[in-house]
Formats: sequence, structure tokens, C-alpha cells
Amino acid sequence: MYDFPCEYCSGTVREQRLDREVLNHARGVVILENAPIGVCDHCQAHYYSAEVLKRVEAILDGNTPSTRTESVPVATF
Ligand SMILES: [Zn+2]
Repeated sequence: MYDFPCEYCSGTVREQRLDREVLNHARGVVILENAPIGVCDHCQAHYYSAEVLKRVEAILDGNTPSTRTESVPVATF
């Protein structure tokens, strides 16, 4: 579902199963574990497939239960 040219460099986006990926969606933050994320093999930019984004939206909508909820501290540096 990836394997396309990176939009930032001449690299190629390859699928990687990442243990933990923080997705900053417009409507909230979701952490996906063991998710198939596209990672550029040159600049390491991350890409999200429509399937991954749909899952994030479903979790934010409450249509898909999350495995657990973590509270994350936020601070201004
Ligand atoms: Zn790249």
C-alpha cells in the first residue's frame, strides 16, 4: 500500500511495522501500535495510508474501541 516516491526527496516510501506511532490528527492524537506506516528510505518522512487514517478517525469517533488510553503530559518549552 506504499512503495511510492517520497514527496520531499528522491527516496521511496516503504511499509514498516512500527511498534508505536503518534498520529497528530486534526481532531486529536492517537497512538497506534504495530501499525503499517510508510517510511521514506532516504529522509525517513512518515506517510499514512487511507486505511491507517480511517482507523485513527474511527478511534476518535468512538466507533472503534482503543486498546487503552494513556494520558500524555504537555508543556511549553
Ligand atoms: Zn524522503
